[in-house]
Amino acid sequence: RAHLALNTVKGRYTSRYAFYDEKMRAALVEEQMILREMETALEENQFCIHLQPVYNVQENCIVGSEALVRWNHPEFGMVSPASFISLFEENGLIQLVDDYVWRKAAAQVKKWQDEFGVTIPVSVNVSRIDIQDETIVENIISIVEEAGIERKDLHLEITESAYASDTQQLIDKVTEFREKGFVIEMDDFGAGYSSLNMLTSLPIDILKVDMRFIRGVSEDEKNLRMMELIMDIAEFLKVPVVAEGVEDEDQYQILKKLGCEMIQGYYFSKPVQAAE
Ligand code: C2E
Ligand code: MG
Ligand code: MG
Repeated sequence: RAHLALNTVKGRYTSRYAFYDEKMRAALVEEQMILREMETALEENQFCIHLQPVYNVQENCIVGSEALVRWNHPEFGMVSPASFISLFEENGLIQLVDDYVWRKAAAQVKKWQDEFGVTIPVSVNVSRIDIQDETIVENIISIVEEAGIERKDLHLEITESAYASDTQQLIDKVTEFREKGFVIEMDDFGAGYSSLNMLTSLPIDILKVDMRFIRGVSEDEKNLRMMELIMDIAEFLKVPVVAEGVEDEDQYQILKKLGCEMIQGYYFSKPVQAAE
């Protein structure tokens, strides 16, 4: 227990002591529970994907959707990815989850093609840990081939924060993916890690603006101006923008007027099951 307390001040040279708190143990116990149950969860198919539609607001139609993982735990019900993604990134288990999600997403694109004769691309999240895997490009290529879909129809979302951890590796992988025909979306743009330098060195196809910027557009002039600047950046890069987390009519109207092409958020739809 002393060790748990110590860990909270380790490396912080201005704090010379720390107190143990029962919450520290509780958090650890919960983490261990999640890690212990993870493998059974995969075996027993407790993971599934929900899809959140992406709308083109200039043309009024659905142009894609994002696959978001859900853990349907037999005891705790739906566990949100917010509480397990970073944990799985710490121990590498994220690769198993993501591989599963990518396969499900690719299969879904194929299913819609077979059932309705339309192609609606699905975007999947790619963790910075996945990028460190030397075989990631081959692996994703074999996933789309096995599913029988085209590479351009499985969009890859790379979170902006990945750029901070291993810049050159990320640039190399993203470049390779694009050469092979995949579409790259920069996720959570503006969330806090971005250096503007990244925008000119990392080749991307779509810019997904973090919901924190969307929140503010209808609130005050400063936030609105900020969003305008982001739209200018996108124009300079010649890439379309997806505004994430659009929740109300005001935000929708403002973004449409600013020339934002695509919108993803509760205003149109929450993440839902494919059939919905
Ligand atoms: P993200 O990739 O930026 O996904 C968007 C998140 O915003 C989703 O949360 C979505 O449900 C939520 N959202 C969408 N519209 C609105 C809105 O109008 N209002 C609000 N308040 N929220 C909205 P979710 O599903 O909880 O996922 C959270 C994050 O977990 C994702 O952020 C992504 O970074 C990560 N994640 C989710 N699924 C996966 C996955 O399969 N693999 C990996 N590596 N990460 C994933
Ligand atoms: Mg995403
Ligand atoms: Mg995002």
